[in-house]
Amino acid sequence: MKKEPLKIQDNCRYTDVVIVGGGASALAAAVELRMSDPGIGVVIIEKNPAPARKIRATGSGRCNITNTAAEGYIDIMKFFTRIGLVTRAYGNGLVYPYSESAADVADLLTARAQELGACIITDAEVTHVRPASGPGNVRFETEYAGGRIRSEFVILACGGKAGPMFGTTGDGYRMARELGHSIVTPVPVLTPVECTEWDPHHRPCAVSLAGTRTRGVVTLCKCPAGGSGHGTEIFEEAGEIQFTRFGLSGICVFNMTRHMRYDRSIGESLSDFTVTADLYPDGDIKSFLRERRENAFPGEKAAGVLRTVLKDNIAEYVMRTVSAAGIQAADKLVSDLTDGDIETVGNAVHCMVFHPEKLRGWKEAQASSGGVSMEEIDPETSGSRILDGLYITGELADRDFRCGGFNLSNAWITGLAAAHSILQKAE
Ligand SMILES: Cc1cc2nc3c(=O)[nH]c(=O)nc-3n(C[C@H](O)[C@H](O)[C@H](O)COP(=O)(O)OP(=O)(O)OC[C@H]3O[C@@H](n4cnc5c(N)ncnc54)[C@H](O)[C@@H]3O)c2cc1C
Repeated sequence: MKKEPLKIQDNCRYTDVVIVGGGASALAAAVELRMSDPGIGVVIIEKNPAPARKIRATGSGRCNITNTAAEGYIDIMKFFTRIGLVTRAYGNGLVYPYSESAADVADLLTARAQELGACIITDAEVTHVRPASGPGNVRFETEYAGGRIRSEFVILACGGKAGPMFGTTGDGYRMARELGHSIVTPVPVLTPVECTEWDPHHRPCAVSLAGTRTRGVVTLCKCPAGGSGHGTEIFEEAGEIQFTRFGLSGICVFNMTRHMRYDRSIGESLSDFTVTADLYPDGDIKSFLRERRENAFPGEKAAGVLRTVLKDNIAEYVMRTVSAAGIQAADKLVSDLTDGDIETVGNAVHCMVFHPEKLRGWKEAQASSGGVSMEEIDPETSGSRILDGLYITGELADRDFRCGGFNLSNAWITGLAAAHSILQKAE
């Protein structure tokens, strides 16, 4: 391709590739396109004053860039090595920039895109992408605040709805729909969960746990609408459980939310789910209590035994939970515990029940579940199966992943795949 890329001040109205959004998948695609073919015209249109705003916030400012277990890991690493990013993989597979600075990743990608000659138009919200025809290979017209631009290819890379303060407000869903795509209803995932136990009228109220973190295992069960009991186990993960002022948080809880989909049209609701937490996953509290009962010191209380295993306010909550169930174990001497008491306290520690009431919304979510139907996207190329020349990358598509660098990995590989497909078609 011979055309020179647009410069922001150019009044030109045509380029080869328009990329809607200047986030992770967009920058990967733009850099790969220009690195492979310096003649291809690439214009990124970003609504924020600068691209890559969300990247700066990733990984709590450290940017968990990928994971050694992620699909496309080798290609992602080759890409970042080629553009000059030094990374470090940790024992758990998580990969970060060596500097542990998300801003470094954002700055490097932006700088490479600009140095390689991609044009980045900022402060420009794209409002419409339409099929078009015209001289040359025009197939699309993209309308944005400040102008219109025609192109042969369009990459819709405007993300989902998670983290709207970073610019991702779901615009891509509307644009994809206008171009003929179907949208699987997006819901926020990788987000904290509000539970009824935090309601001040609940006895005992779990607000006393706020601010506590503990190692544990969360298990999610789903009970069909109208059914009884906890239902079928659908998810389990060990990790750090964080108790907040409204419910549960932490990586294992975030990952759990990806499995909390329900269908209102068939009478399902969030109350079909039950979360249980094993608060002492490394041991058996019942055996420990029985052992203490055998070897009790004079005056040794059951609550005191629990406090040797659990954090104080968790032990307190466990005791208040069992006493709400009619078992007065808290003030008992451990030597006086009956087998029934030990059973009840043990179940509360290993199977503490929480009832989800609400998933925290888009502002706190780290990813969107749902989006452009994957039935309408070729996963090898990120290409639309509805419109030739259209590509859908990153979180806009109906693909979401657990925490650990997998969502950014998806953004990088889908952006790179779109670039490779365009380069092949444009030859
Ligand atoms: C707080 C937070 C932390 C995270 N941490 C991690 C992590 O450590 N590791 C990980 O793997 N994933 C993480 N994620 C998820 C990851 O950031 C996203 O999955 C990824 O950035 C999605 O990339 P994308 O290319 O789809 O779009 P994004 O990176 O979301 O970028 C989309 C861009 O499009 C722009 N845009 C939207 N609409 C328009 C429009 N109409 N016109 C012009 N521009 C528009 C937006 O302003 C935005 O810049 C995190 C997410 C959040 C919110």
